[in-house]
Amino acid sequence: MKIKAAVVREIDQLTIEEVELAEPKAGEVLVRMRAAGVCHSDLHTYKGELRSTPPIVLGHEGAGIVEAVGPGVTKVQPGDAVGINWLPACNSCPTCLAGRPNLCERFPSTTFRSLMPDGTTRHRTLDGMALKPYLSSATMAEYAVIHQDGIVPLPPGIPFEVAAITGCAVMTGVGAVLNTAQVQPGSSAAVIGCGGVGLSAIQGCRLAGCYPIIAVDVMESKLAFARELGATHTVHARETDVVEALRELTRLGPDYVFDSVGAAPTIAQALQSVRPGGTAVIMGLHATKIEVPISPAVLVLANKRLLGSFAGSARPLVDLPKLLQLYQGGRLELDRLITKRYPLEELPQAFADMEGGAIARGVLVFP
Ligand SMILES: [Zn+2]
Ligand SMILES: [Zn+2]
Repeated sequence: MKIKAAVVREIDQLTIEEVELAEPKAGEVLVRMRAAGVCHSDLHTYKGELRSTPPIVLGHEGAGIVEAVGPGVTKVQPGDAVGINWLPACNSCPTCLAGRPNLCERFPSTTFRSLMPDGTTRHRTLDGMALKPYLSSATMAEYAVIHQDGIVPLPPGIPFEVAAITGCAVMTGVGAVLNTAQVQPGSSAAVIGCGGVGLSAIQGCRLAGCYPIIAVDVMESKLAFARELGATHTVHARETDVVEALRELTRLGPDYVFDSVGAAPTIAQALQSVRPGGTAVIMGLHATKIEVPISPAVLVLANKRLLGSFAGSARPLVDLPKLLQLYQGGRLELDRLITKRYPLEELPQAFADMEGGAIARGVLVFP
């Protein structure tokens, strides 16, 4: 079928164009997209800074309605509301069975290369070029073909936009706090960067009973928003020395510092500012190519822990329904993370707004 999609034929060349999408094969689901989250990972992929390279159809966060199913699909049927899980784990390899489906052993040869779980592609340009589905998802399009391992049935009453962002930004931010760091109640915490992931981490710290919860950012508007979502203190990173400010607010430094930016200076700040014996968690990925000098003396003598958190160390099929339940119970404010909606054609503007820091989370909405 012919669908409109966000296509990157070459690095830095984004077009919204008609492409040919193949029918779902065995175990796959055709989803009519209703919402797709706009994420930094899509932007970095379009610019050629991450592992997945063009030619590609962007988008990995999304939700919609099942239009059709391929042979052998038992999980959903046409008409069902579903969220997209861009980590379609096999659930049978040793890593999955050990409870780490975010690190499924089939990802390096499939999803992380932006291929379907069977290693193939589903899209072609009208002039015949094969396009990869970004993270086995390609949600920035009118329709998406998704393996049923990447499908999460939605409970009634969940807005598609909320489901779309929960699968990435929220799972990453809340998961870093609850799953990766396993924060102890009553701990002090700081979150560097107050975009969608950082604001989700702040809400995760609130769920975990942290105090203080210190938001760090370079924009006053973002700090104000962070206070509304649970930050008890804020540090303006352009006006203050972040490490000193965090130590002042917590005596020796926070028990936990979460970095959502993933840039060399903020990673260094996270490790420096966390108290002796504390835990710094890196959950953002600015680009795969940066390197950060780490002082072994800081790690050893101050007995600090430095943890990486990929997708919130989540088990998406367990965590996504749980996060949506917390949202429905009023414990997570997810509507407010969505600050702007765009039609597919305005994706370039959505990227520009995200880069400019004007929004917490932008979402593409489909009629
Ligand atoms: Zn994302
Ligand atoms: Zn697996």
